[in-house]
Amino acid sequence: MAFESLSDKFQNIFKNLRSKGRLTEEDVKVALKEVKMALLEADVSFKVVKKFINAVTERAVGSDVMNSLTPGQMVIKIVNEEMTNLMGSETTEIKLKPSNEITVIMMAGLQGAGKTTTVAKLAGKFKQKGYKPLLVACDIYRPAAIDQLTINAEKQDVPVFSMGTDNKPKDIAKAAMSHAAKNDNNVVIIDTAGRLHIDEEMMDELIGIKEAVEVDQTILVVDAMTGQDAVNVASNFNDKVGIDGVILTKLDGDTRGGAALSIKAVTDKPILYVGMGEKLSDLEQFYPDRMASRILGMGDVLTLIEKAEASFDLEKSKDLEAKMKKADFGFDDYLEYMQQINNMGGIAEMLKLMPGNMNISEDQLPDEKKLKRVEAIIYSMTPEERSKPALLNPSRKNRIAKGAGVDIAEVNRLVKQFEQARKMMKQMPGLMGGGKKKRRGF
Ligand code: GDP
Repeated sequence: MAFESLSDKFQNIFKNLRSKGRLTEEDVKVALKEVKMALLEADVSFKVVKKFINAVTERAVGSDVMNSLTPGQMVIKIVNEEMTNLMGSETTEIKLKPSNEITVIMMAGLQGAGKTTTVAKLAGKFKQKGYKPLLVACDIYRPAAIDQLTINAEKQDVPVFSMGTDNKPKDIAKAAMSHAAKNDNNVVIIDTAGRLHIDEEMMDELIGIKEAVEVDQTILVVDAMTGQDAVNVASNFNDKVGIDGVILTKLDGDTRGGAALSIKAVTDKPILYVGMGEKLSDLEQFYPDRMASRILGMGDVLTLIEKAEASFDLEKSKDLEAKMKKADFGFDDYLEYMQQINNMGGIAEMLKLMPGNMNISEDQLPDEKKLKRVEAIIYSMTPEERSKPALLNPSRKNRIAKGAGVDIAEVNRLVKQFEQARKMMKQMPGLMGGGKKKRRGF
């Protein structure tokens, strides 16, 4: 699986960060050093890593982070955001002209990168959008390339314009334009010849096509498995021919992540699509934010963190934390706590990410209905019972059950859950975000 080893490393680094209720500057620095090593091992260019680490450090070592609900989570959030920025922050679409004009796309790339396959994949995408693509066979050096393009085009049910191997690519491209105009094709995708390595002839040929026809977009196809080489190739093509975007292929393979993470930062050109397999449907839009989450092995954690930050009433939380410490945490406080976590939603997953890696099943947690019953039980207690749960003997519990209109078993369950919650909160000082302890180093 792509990025597996990088994701594993991030998971470990993040686990350490999460397990700490409070963070010192030193903690953050140690974690970022590990992040740096992991990125370098994943073949991300040194310059990119340095820039990335500086950007994260600048944001992570500050009072905003340290005073947040869970500083470890905030550092992780920053790493995620900066990683998204590194890959372009926004999704870039291939710009197509209105359908009454012809958009010309020239595809470039080294041999074996996946260019011909990608041409056909793209044609399928454009067709889905209602365009009429024409594929142009400009690889005159390998007759097999023309055959391959034709076979793939047939699968996508799109036409191919070919003049065999005896004409110059720029002349074929020119002739293709008249063909497209005559046949109402409004997207012309030119498949050019690749080489095993960068060479002048190949670059000149691409420049020649650009001079012969008005190319709207030059898209480079690079193989993600080649890591830094892919980045160098992109850089070279951009300098010599000029590219508008990159399609990264073979992301379904065991790639380390270097290419995906470095291309935008090095060339300033966006990744447009990613190839996720050999099938012609295996082409996905590139979303920098989703890719960052994937590389970090984080899934939907960010949404959860944001939810938590947004729904926790920090002032109330501080009060609760203070009460907890004084051991006078009673049923009224418990109810408030239940209401807060109920506001959060998805709490079971959230708690798994909390310090101590708590595993609580969904049915132990309140939904609206359960919360109403909890409220009824707690409101049937006397104020004294609410602040001193130890007073609850069987006869008092019986009276409370009658008052709330529930079975005594439910009262027993609530009391048990209350005890558990009290114990649990003692184990996780970071959850309530009180920040009463003096922070080391800040
Ligand atoms: P070209 O020489 O650049 O035109 O490359 P091809 O289109 O012929 O592709 C080279 C090989 O890579 C073929 O076997 C393709 O099936 C394969 N390929 C292309 N894109 C992908 C991809 O995204 N994932 C995988 N696994 N294989 C791919």
